Amino acid sequence: MPAAILSIGDELTIGQTLNTNSAWVAERLAACAVLTIEHRTVADDREAITRAVRELVARCDVLVITGGLGPTLDDLTRQALGDVLTPDEPLVCDEAAAEHVRARFARRGRPMPESNLIQAMRPHTMRFLPNPNGTAMGLAGVHGRCALFALPGPPNEMQPMFCDHVAPALPAGVGGSVIRTAAVHMLGLGESDAAERLGDLMRRDRNPMVGTTVSQSIVSARVRTEGDAAWTERELAATIAAIEQRWHPYVYGRDDVSLAAAAGALLRERSLLVTTAESCTGGLLGSMIVQVAGSSDHYVGGWVTYSNQMKIDQLGVPSATLARHGAVSPQVADAMARGALARSAGDRGGAADVALAVTGIAGPGGGSASKPVGLVCIALASRRDGEPLVRTRDFHFSGSRGEIRDRAAKCALQVLRFHLLEVDAATPLLWECAARTDSRSEVVRA
Ligand code: AMP
Ligand code: MG
Repeated sequence: MPAAILSIGDELTIGQTLNTNSAWVAERLAACAVLTIEHRTVADDREAITRAVRELVARCDVLVITGGLGPTLDDLTRQALGDVLTPDEPLVCDEAAAEHVRARFARRGRPMPESNLIQAMRPHTMRFLPNPNGTAMGLAGVHGRCALFALPGPPNEMQPMFCDHVAPALPAGVGGSVIRTAAVHMLGLGESDAAERLGDLMRRDRNPMVGTTVSQSIVSARVRTEGDAAWTERELAATIAAIEQRWHPYVYGRDDVSLAAAAGALLRERSLLVTTAESCTGGLLGSMIVQVAGSSDHYVGGWVTYSNQMKIDQLGVPSATLARHGAVSPQVADAMARGALARSAGDRGGAADVALAVTGIAGPGGGSASKPVGLVCIALASRRDGEPLVRTRDFHFSGSRGEIRDRAAKCALQVLRFHLLEVDAATPLLWECAARTDSRSEVVRA
């Protein structure tokens, strides 16, 4: 059952307001087994809205419109709906609706500007949908085979109205069919490598259908499936399992799970504590970790040591190491991780079991030929037989200062996951430089 979403407003077309309504509505429609095939955004222009409505009702079973139902001259959705549904008849005034608008003003002790009565007007073939959170009521009707719903733009008004009046009114899916979606996330492979690994899973005629997207360095496989309920659940689970297997060990979670939550869960399972020593990420890594509720059971805290002196005083990085190799070097990352591991203390009395250290050049200035902007050294210190064991990985991230810092913190979390899962040390992460060092075998070629 194809659906379209039409978003209306100058603020959307010129980019002042992000169109969050259409994504929200599409997700809800999918949960109701209604597949959205088109999103369209038009300005507050009666002719443009009319044209869009006419085209979309001709090829969809469901059209959800948001915006343009307010009382001002730039709110033209109801007029455009009249142009399409009842072109030869004027809008009618709905007495109950007029009363609703008057009552809202009266309740606030404010006089009602006459212009607000436009909100009581509708094409006579449409009915009003109540809006408990605002004056702009919604409109529902049918044109040809298409069910139309128009809702006000503010998300806090639109969303409850969709749940209360649109979702229950949607035509039932064909033969009890349902739509289920899921997202599987990974970090550390480029999108084309990731897609190549998925191979035949990405065939466009496959059900479940799989597509990839990248957002803030996370590659996600988006899975969508349609069919009868039991089959859909089974096939969705099988496809997710296949993606996880092909993306191992880079894959870390599904849907709303963050990398920090995934790493945190592994620490929790193993009753391990982690600490952090950050330079260029300036606390971002710690912040990602504590974004996860319950992180106090595996995160003891950490250091932000931005200056050399702080690295020396707080973490015991030898000044000779700093002088010889520079603050951005695997040797300093190594010393920071060792220092953090040795100096951390957990509630249970013992020190942390794992320390992550990050030092790098976030830019935009400060780079050199041998140490370009984006060079970041990440060290992980753990203990083996009571002795600290440190592994350092060097990365060369591209992007803005913000992107470099974000990628550095995320890669540190992925390095932690790899360590906890005992992933083969030669497994490379995207952006990683070829040479890596560890504390036992000086420099290892990957
Ligand atoms: P309207 O119903 O057209 O008067 O919309 C009123 C307000 O709702 C706008 O100023 C926006 O702040 C918000 N809004 C409208 N459409 C959207 C949308 N598609 N996504 C997010 N917010 C929206
Ligand atoms: Mg508007």
